[in-house]
Amino acid sequence: MGYSIYQDMQEVNENPDKWVNHGREALRESCKHKQLEEENYCDKCDISEDSAIPMMNYLYPLELKDFEDSKLLKVVKETNCTILENTETGEWFLCLCGGGMDLSQDIALSYQILETWIPQDLLREVCKQPLLSLGSKNYKKLARGIMKQLKMEANRNKEKAKDWKESLANLRADEKAKKEQKE
Ligand SMILES: [Zn+2]
Repeated sequence: MGYSIYQDMQEVNENPDKWVNHGREALRESCKHKQLEEENYCDKCDISEDSAIPMMNYLYPLELKDFEDSKLLKVVKETNCTILENTETGEWFLCLCGGGMDLSQDIALSYQILETWIPQDLLREVCKQPLLSLGSKNYKKLARGIMKQLKMEANRNKEKAKDWKESLANLRADEKAKKEQKE
């Protein structure tokens, strides 16, 4: 998996000053009932802090940072991901708060929510199975975004192929001209 980095999540959970969990903070701020901090769960909001606790030992790098609260909240509430910041390096990451199954759709949807685009290595590996870990609405949104990105990539490759064709044609023309000069 070229798009992920190994990270011991115990180190993350034990060093909250170094590792800021922005998803968890957004979740806490969204609950006005003061129930989250005391009980870990708010029945009025139907949210649990567990949905923002890193589980798997992998980080997925983000290119952008300082996201709007609404986007952070959307990621924690609608996917099995949260957002971490390494305050020592200034880098931001996605990470998984669940496991035991293929959650590539969750990671991809999180990238879509935060950055609109999905890293190329991941784009090719997102599981296609409908209703695997995402509901119908989010699965459709993800599928539309992936198709759009793949088409854009195909167009870019077509342009590149054209450039190579031109370059090859130029070389052939040069060689032909030189050969004719000699004759
Ligand atoms: Zn609440």
